[in-house]
Amino acid sequence: MALLSEDDPPPYIVHAAVRPSPFLLVADHAGRQSPKRLGDLGVSPEDWERHIAWDIGIQGVGRALHERLGATLIEQVYSRLVIDCNRSPGHPTSLTPVSDGTAVPANQTASVLCRASREMEILHPYHDRIAAELARRKTDGQPTALIALHSFTPRMGGADRPWHVGVLHHRDTVSARIMLDLLRADGDLCVGDNEPYVLTTTSDYTVPRHAEAAGLPYLELEIRQDLIAGRGGQDAWAVRLARLLPLYWKRLEEETQPA
Ligand SMILES: [Zn+2]
Repeated sequence: MALLSEDDPPPYIVHAAVRPSPFLLVADHAGRQSPKRLGDLGVSPEDWERHIAWDIGIQGVGRALHERLGATLIEQVYSRLVIDCNRSPGHPTSLTPVSDGTAVPANQTASVLCRASREMEILHPYHDRIAAELARRKTDGQPTALIALHSFTPRMGGADRPWHVGVLHHRDTVSARIMLDLLRADGDLCVGDNEPYVLTTTSDYTVPRHAEAAGLPYLELEIRQDLIAGRGGQDAWAVRLARLLPLYWKRLEEETQPA
């Protein structure tokens, strides 16, 4: 039996480009739907409001950024509690048993078949769509930087997180350095360098799979959730990123072009 029914939305939304752009925007944790057949996974309504269900605010930032840049945006529709689309299939927190102290009972008892159906119907279609977009751009000779949009909770493990924004990186240190410089030059920000998380090939999936494996430049950006909880903050961050991303791309081209 299929997991998704006629009443469930498709696993991703594509906001098509409205003008040429070097950027492909992706948001792994934009949505918090759950398939009708899975329901609330045994998680309370209060916990569905929390950051454990999705990246609070990032859907609004992504859509406003798409409108300003005109770049394609691909959003995941289902909650990270159903399946985390920034984890490789089979990863211990792909179907997280516990998230920030909250048990996810349906994940703790999920059968092999149930895991497979979440991968087949939610994770893979989303990543296949990103891969198809990148393949088309390559065929068209369009240079691309993958921009992975995330948000993080202001408080974790009893500690406040001071950063307003973080740039996560692993193999592409050039892109990260340029964007870190640009964000710091804005003057009003506490900028995290591989904070609040370090990007790795095991803790992340989207950037290693689509960008690092193909040698594409990328930025994985994390914005603190209290700054983008409302429409005003989401628009302000979209304005900021729509100003800085083209500067990043220009500097990257200058640095990587043969003299
Ligand atoms: Zn995220």
